[in-house]
Amino acid sequence: MPHSPHTPQAEKLVIVGSGPAGWTAAIYAARANLRPLVLTGGGPDRDHMPGGQLMWTSEVENFPGFVHGISGHKLMDTLQQQAERMGTRVRQHNVNKIDLSTRPFRIWHDGPLLGDEEALTHAHSIIVATGAAANYLGLPSERQFENLGVSACAVCDGNLPRFKDRPLVVVGGGDSAAEEATYLTKFASRVYLVHRRDSLRASKVMAARALSNPKVMPIWNSAVQEVLGNETEGVTGVRVENLLTQDHTTLEASGMFAAIGHTPNTKFLAGQVQLNEKGYIVLRDGFRAQTSVDGVFAAGDCADSTYRQAITAAGMGCKAALDAERWLVEQGID
Ligand code: NAP
Repeated sequence: MPHSPHTPQAEKLVIVGSGPAGWTAAIYAARANLRPLVLTGGGPDRDHMPGGQLMWTSEVENFPGFVHGISGHKLMDTLQQQAERMGTRVRQHNVNKIDLSTRPFRIWHDGPLLGDEEALTHAHSIIVATGAAANYLGLPSERQFENLGVSACAVCDGNLPRFKDRPLVVVGGGDSAAEEATYLTKFASRVYLVHRRDSLRASKVMAARALSNPKVMPIWNSAVQEVLGNETEGVTGVRVENLLTQDHTTLEASGMFAAIGHTPNTKFLAGQVQLNEKGYIVLRDGFRAQTSVDGVFAAGDCADSTYRQAITAAGMGCKAALDAERWLVEQGID
């Protein structure tokens, strides 16, 4: 295999992403004396924020070890501290481009500028743990009212003054939609749950919790056609089509929350690593963390369209670190 183990500045292991997968990989790799470098993601926006999706989750009740639950923010902060205590180095940079055709690999990211170029890091091995981002409906009017009442995160935005005691709309039928609808009842006067089918696909317990809430009103077999509003007030309503009758109705609402699933954050890997049709990283063997490129491993939601849980991401991060460690030893890079 053509690589140069003695390239002076090459990192042994770079971990891209800082959710439960990234930090768990870092803890294991640091304990194995790999001195991993974590590039956390750099932006203030929801899709690039260090810590990932859990930074927007108020209460995580199903991560083992916390009897009374823990906030997503606190959990990520604790994992980072644990990783750093073990010797992980951390840089708050966003990765823009990767070249896996040369060894060591090249990773371009934000950070201190080198001349006119973006910062460049060389790495013998990489763990990709970049997670996934929320999907939107894709309506032009939805974009127009982004940050003016349109959101994909109830926990982040639900308690904004604009939503207080006002009717709101949640779109979707999965666990996210059920959870967001229930959560928003804390602030809203009413929550319309607009779903394109006649039942939720959410787990029984979460669906029942949402639908038994007197403030939640399901709007079945329906799709949002347009978000209505103006520049001063933001969102004022949502035009909905009944897919069985083609009737249109307008729901008066001050906000619309899209809860229709996620897309993996893997664009920067296109053409470099095998991705499936939805953009998830394909693992060579579903039980391991190896991607289609030797020395590149993946963990968490960017490689898992099935479970997408904090604990499964953490487990995958552990496997990726162990696989990376073994691979580096096999290559004579220690
Ligand atoms: P999901 O299960 O994929 O559900 C997405 C929902 O959005 C589906 O009901 C889908 O409709 C609908 N949808 C998709 N595209 C749409 C479009 N363009 N227009 C209208 N509706 C659209 O996604 P999720 O709810 O985000 O859940 C993802 C994973 O995270 C799941 O495994 C879930 O269990 C997990 N999760 C767990 C928790 C928790 O345990 N606390 C909370 C949230 C999520 P169809 O039903 O017609 O396909």
